[in-house]
Amino acid sequence: MSIVTSQNLKASLTVASCRCNSRFCKSCCVSLGIELGNRLRQRLSKFESLYMVTLTIDPKHFEDPEQAYQYIKRHRCVAETVRELKQHLITNDYFYVVEWQRNTENVHFHLILNSSYIPFDAICDAWNKQSVHIDGNVRVFGSVRFTAKSVTTCNVASVTAANYATKYMIKYPPQGYPRWVLDAQYNIRKFSTSRGFWDGIEYDDALDNPSDYQQSDDDEGLDNNNSKRTIGQIVESCGQFCNVFYDLQRVDQNGKVQCSRKFIRRLHIDIASLYDAGIGTKSKNGREVVYKDQFELNDVLSKYREHELMRNA
Ligand SMILES: [Zn+2]
Repeated sequence: MSIVTSQNLKASLTVASCRCNSRFCKSCCVSLGIELGNRLRQRLSKFESLYMVTLTIDPKHFEDPEQAYQYIKRHRCVAETVRELKQHLITNDYFYVVEWQRNTENVHFHLILNSSYIPFDAICDAWNKQSVHIDGNVRVFGSVRFTAKSVTTCNVASVTAANYATKYMIKYPPQGYPRWVLDAQYNIRKFSTSRGFWDGIEYDDALDNPSDYQQSDDDEGLDNNNSKRTIGQIVESCGQFCNVFYDLQRVDQNGKVQCSRKFIRRLHIDIASLYDAGIGTKSKNGREVVYKDQFELNDVLSKYREHELMRNA
């Protein structure tokens, strides 16, 4: 490929690391979590009042943590708990983050509600009712904790609540995620919302994690899609490949810079090895290396191959 460079035209080749973009990935979860936090802050600022509650499950009702998770998913226990609390809510909007307990591998839920007051007993009753599907009886399903009530103005509270949720989105468990999460053949989400929660908040991926209610009835339970990669497989592939792009910057008649990017090829190399081979300019986030032309890239690729041959010799 010929690279054109003139006063009005600047071309380069960018090699970008292919990220897995999984919220379960130690490296990808941070930027994704921060982006979600920003979106959440905007959305929660429209809540009149905020109530944050943590819901846990008593593991003794289930054989293992995965069975407990599947039960909650199948019976939509969090959504149903919110529905039970309707009379105490200003609107039915909610957001929750899932967290995995360090030792037990059990899930618990950090739930944010639009409410100024919910009697403690009411929320315990609503959560305990979710145990009815076990054998038809209602018992203590788990624990309920009020994390925080709304403080001062809702703007302040929305920042606090969004930061609180973001903290759990970007917190990578020190021991990693449980094997049952990594190997699951069905969808496991780190957060969920009420239906239409993001309406009016304009983000491209506002629907990246559709709420329980946005799915069709058939899709509600455990969607066994064996052809789908597991979370573990997705996360393992993170950063193992790079894509090469041809970038063109053109200054138009009005002095405005127009950028275009074209995919060229995929390299089965991780970006760190490529960068170690020298040449090229690393981007701030460390995920891209820019080469001024194809010759520079070819040069670095041959150097890289030499490195590999030496290493494997
Ligand atoms: Zn990743």
